[in-house]
Amino acid sequence: MKRYSAFAIVREALMNDHKGWERAWRNAQPKKRYDVVIVGAGGHGLATAYYLGKNFGITNVAVIEKGWLGGGNTGRNTTIIRSNYLQDASAAIYEKARSLYETMSQDLNYNVMFSPRGVMMLAQTEHEVRGYQRTAHANALQGVQTEFISPRRVKDIVPIINLDGPRYPVLGALWQERGGTARHDAVAWGYARACSAMGMDIIQQCEVTGVTRDGARVSGVDTSKGHIACEKLGIVVAGHSGELARMAGFRLPVESAPLQALVSEPIKPVMDCVVMANTVHGYMSQSDKGEMVIGGGTDSYNAFTQRGSFHHIEHTVAALIETFPMVSRLKMLRQWGGIVDMTGDRSPILSRTPVDGIFINCGWGTGGFKAIPGSGWGFAELMATGKSALCAEFGMDRFAKGRFIDESVAAGVAH
Ligand SMILES: Cc1cc2nc3c(=O)[nH]c(=O)nc-3n(C[C@H](O)[C@H](O)[C@H](O)COP(=O)(O)OP(=O)(O)OC[C@H]3O[C@@H](n4cnc5c(N)ncnc54)[C@H](O)[C@@H]3O)c2cc1C
Repeated sequence: MKRYSAFAIVREALMNDHKGWERAWRNAQPKKRYDVVIVGAGGHGLATAYYLGKNFGITNVAVIEKGWLGGGNTGRNTTIIRSNYLQDASAAIYEKARSLYETMSQDLNYNVMFSPRGVMMLAQTEHEVRGYQRTAHANALQGVQTEFISPRRVKDIVPIINLDGPRYPVLGALWQERGGTARHDAVAWGYARACSAMGMDIIQQCEVTGVTRDGARVSGVDTSKGHIACEKLGIVVAGHSGELARMAGFRLPVESAPLQALVSEPIKPVMDCVVMANTVHGYMSQSDKGEMVIGGGTDSYNAFTQRGSFHHIEHTVAALIETFPMVSRLKMLRQWGGIVDMTGDRSPILSRTPVDGIFINCGWGTGGFKAIPGSGWGFAELMATGKSALCAEFGMDRFAKGRFIDESVAAGVAH
């Protein structure tokens, strides 16, 4: 793999007329057998493959994708990165992820445009004030840097905000200064390039249609490009997790629902952090192009359409106009949706399964982009060694045992 650097750009410009760049990753065709097959070339699947190779030297790996790499939720999200969760197990995995984001561009030699611009979660009821103060205290004990800030400080950081909304005033906010955003496609592309350089196969346009077993153990997958045998199988397909689990012969406690986002026309810089208003149900940041990136809650029905309903757009924009009146003057350019996989306690599942050799990584719901490197790190360890401290609490048996990791406060509108 040729390294990307300022020197390489100058050399290509002066000597090769920019014709010497290689493809970032090989578009591979499947071999008959792999040590590990990962289903799903989203951020979590690709990060898992990357850390299997980097941390454990396992490189006979295929990542199988039914569409195009990064075309699922990874390429559809609003890119918010934060680690201000309440429970210790969550703070550990999300903070591991956030810290890996800080050096990801250097690690992958790929600019993922990580921007630690700060994430603010507004408290607009007394209940939220108490909830976020509690989270700030929990974060202090966990070593995660957050603070509860006053309305005046909120206004200093975000001058365009309206503190006295028609329904709910801003009473303060939970502020994580080292939270921020990154370029979502680049995260997928950077991992894909690094995996391909390690000799792994990324196989696009290849749908998994069945899971084959040899007794109690997995033996491979049936795909639209034929049968592929494997020793271990990682299922990392977000909104389609229930379907893949069904193929493998077990059930998952997840529901799939559409979540949508929209962007406005580009405007001059007006806001240099991320603001989430969970009571009125909307959040916003500004992209490098100048578009206001906007999201809200999930549709209240289960579906597999990557669209989202119209009434939700209206609800989200109304919430944003309350919080930032200038939004009423903006034209919206695009709207899209993804299918998110939600568990009852709003925490992910990183787990062994009832089938030997099959591991599942899902349930990131509306907030898994921020977790990609931490999840890949832990899940690779679980797949390679059979145990992982980062994943230990997130087993699927917690639903049978009532050992929930309740993040419904942190994850009510969790992005
Ligand atoms: C609108 C929206 C906004 C969001 N905003 C944020 C945010 O701001 N911050 C945040 O942290 N998170 C956010 N999220 C959540 C985040 O996007 C997801 O949690 C995360 O991207 C999940 O990554 P993944 O790799 O697990 O899944 P995906 O990226 O969806 O990848 C799974 C892949 O599996 C493939 N697949 C499915 N079935 C099969 C099959 N049978 N065979 C082969 N391949 C298959 C799919 O095609 C897909 O590419 C948002 C999500 C949405 C939809």
